[in-house]
Amino acid sequence: MEKVTEYFGSMVFDDRIMKATLSEKVYKSLKRTIDRGTPLDISVANAVAAAMKDWAIELGATHYTHWFQPMTGVTAEKHDSFISPAPDGRVIMEFSGKELVKGEPDASSFPSGGLRATFEARGYTAWDPTSYAFIKDGTLYIPTAFCSYTGEALDKKVPLLRSMEALNKQAIRILKLFGNTSVKSVKTSVGPEQEYFLVDRDMWKKRKDLIMTGRTLFGAMPPKGQEMDDHYFGSIKPRVAEYMADLDRELWKLGILAKTKHNEVAPAQHELAPIYDTTNIAADHNQLTMEIMQKVALRHNLVCLLHEKPFAGVNGSGKHNNWSISTDAGENLLSPGETPAENAQFLLFLAAVIKAVDDYQDLLRLSVATAGNDHRLGANEAPPAVISIFLGDELTAVLDAIEADKPYGGTKKEKMQLGVDVLPKFSKDSTDRNRTSPFAFTGNKFEFRMLGSSNSISCANIHLNAAVAEVLKQFADKLEKAKDFNKALHDLIRKTIKDHKRIIFNGNGYDDSWIKEAEKRGLMNLKTTADAMPHICDKKNVDMLTSHGIFTEAEIFSRRDIMLENYVKTVNIEAVTMVDMARKEIIPAVAKFAADTASAVSVKKSVSKAACKYETKLVTELSELIDEMDAATTKLEAAIAKFKGISDIIKASEFVRDTMIPAMDKLRSAADKAETVTAEDYYPFPTYDKLLFGV
Ligand code: ADP
Ligand code: MG
Repeated sequence: MEKVTEYFGSMVFDDRIMKATLSEKVYKSLKRTIDRGTPLDISVANAVAAAMKDWAIELGATHYTHWFQPMTGVTAEKHDSFISPAPDGRVIMEFSGKELVKGEPDASSFPSGGLRATFEARGYTAWDPTSYAFIKDGTLYIPTAFCSYTGEALDKKVPLLRSMEALNKQAIRILKLFGNTSVKSVKTSVGPEQEYFLVDRDMWKKRKDLIMTGRTLFGAMPPKGQEMDDHYFGSIKPRVAEYMADLDRELWKLGILAKTKHNEVAPAQHELAPIYDTTNIAADHNQLTMEIMQKVALRHNLVCLLHEKPFAGVNGSGKHNNWSISTDAGENLLSPGETPAENAQFLLFLAAVIKAVDDYQDLLRLSVATAGNDHRLGANEAPPAVISIFLGDELTAVLDAIEADKPYGGTKKEKMQLGVDVLPKFSKDSTDRNRTSPFAFTGNKFEFRMLGSSNSISCANIHLNAAVAEVLKQFADKLEKAKDFNKALHDLIRKTIKDHKRIIFNGNGYDDSWIKEAEKRGLMNLKTTADAMPHICDKKNVDMLTSHGIFTEAEIFSRRDIMLENYVKTVNIEAVTMVDMARKEIIPAVAKFAADTASAVSVKKSVSKAACKYETKLVTELSELIDEMDAATTKLEAAIAKFKGISDIIKASEFVRDTMIPAMDKLRSAADKAETVTAEDYYPFPTYDKLLFGV
């Protein structure tokens, strides 16, 4: 078998290939664009396109596509072949710099939230040279940004790049104040840990809910769930191991640093974590990872479920967004460092993150809000819907000492002085234990744990980068004017801790008492997408996002509408699917079982004097449950009909939250009760025990 070191990245037009196939002049010019964002000359684009094409054709590619991330949450592509007619009636393979740099897909069928009038259907895609092109299934993929013809972002990459740029700009200002004048760029990095479920494809095919919505809309708990804690890190079953090995190989070929794989808490649940990378590359790679996870599963007659809550009663799936900020020289700005000066700089960045998370709780919460993720957040498994930061006891004690102007640890007589004292070493252990916090400091990075497994990581990182950029800006504005830098720094950190310590919570986030405590502290508890999403249009958020050039006001309003539409449409599809399954599958199955049992009673009674107590009781119970299901279905049908008539998106989202979802819960509860008393042979589709333990 081929060695990993040989095939890793073999399908990627990466730095090594660029160096080998481009002239030195072209290579250097492209590198400047990649590293510093300098505009690309068309002659350079032509040379890069020619080299890319030759390389891709050598590896069997016949087509190319601009690959982008519209607001649908999945990626989009439109393939063009390289062929161009030759005078002799044959073809030559062509690919120009213009085709590499810009594409013009018809944008009219992608969500735009009213940004793009239907008469102005054109949109364009623009090459993102910072993310490598790659080959997949015989096509050269070119990562691109997607905009309307008037320049508004129609995707998730444009604002992500803008947010990284905003943070870069403000962080450099801060570093200058600490005497670092050689830094050229500051970038954020992300390592997203991806959770997923695997189910058998033959069983999956029998469940309309899984096919239509990616989750089970019905299903009683099996005798065994996750209570034995025997799945987490458990030994991996052969069929799953084969899948994981195949998946690693496909990801490695695409240069994706898939690193860790293990079983997760719920039965049939697993996790894959890559080595972290620059945020926009991590975002591209995570989209690819999700796509390839699903594709590879089919080869093993499995289906990979990326939904946040495929099964009620066992853990759902999330995506931990490990996030850090570092300089082009490789200095991690969230690492405490070794010297007093490094410590002071670290504390300032730490204070900035604390203030950013507190000031923009709503933006962080709504960046992960979807119909699917609403099933997790606040449901005693994932982090709660309330945002708080875990720092660990040691670091919290340091901040307490600074705030109180007291010595740290009680060993010294003098109070802590920034830039003079050395911080104690924080062991990773003491910062890494709390798994219930939505936003945890883990030694040299923050782990934002609220993302749903199917979310693009872009939205969360756009808002996180933007919020931190804004606070760094406020800090820089203040510190640049200070006469005594060390004193101003000390005062600023102290004041920030004092004003924002309410967001720090080191206890158990799953505990109900925390929610009450959080309320007392004035923290926001935005329970559902309908509650969270409208806050993106709050003045303070619009002002902040527009002032850093991350979104225009029109883009913000359009995004709110797109996300809310996604929410209501998702729930509506689920509701319609439930009605369909209840009317056509579940009620008929239970009714048939009831009828068969009833006719058994009459047969029995005709031959003996048996009382048939058991059967009679069962038929009565089944009949009652059928009536209950029928009534609940009728209610849900009425809700669906009413929903159709609501055109205002805010009202529609509130209706979904207040009426549709409760009606769905009622129907599910009746059907799940019926499942537990219906003979297995009668049940129309595979139940939880088979789905969860059937691989
Ligand atoms: P675990 O969560 O299992 O303890 P780690 O926290 O070490 O494991 O790593 C989880 C993820 O965090 C991985 O994707 C890893 O690459 C990423 N990661 C590690 N260091 C950083 C960093 N400085 N910045 C961003 N992500 C990081
Ligand atoms: Mg982790």
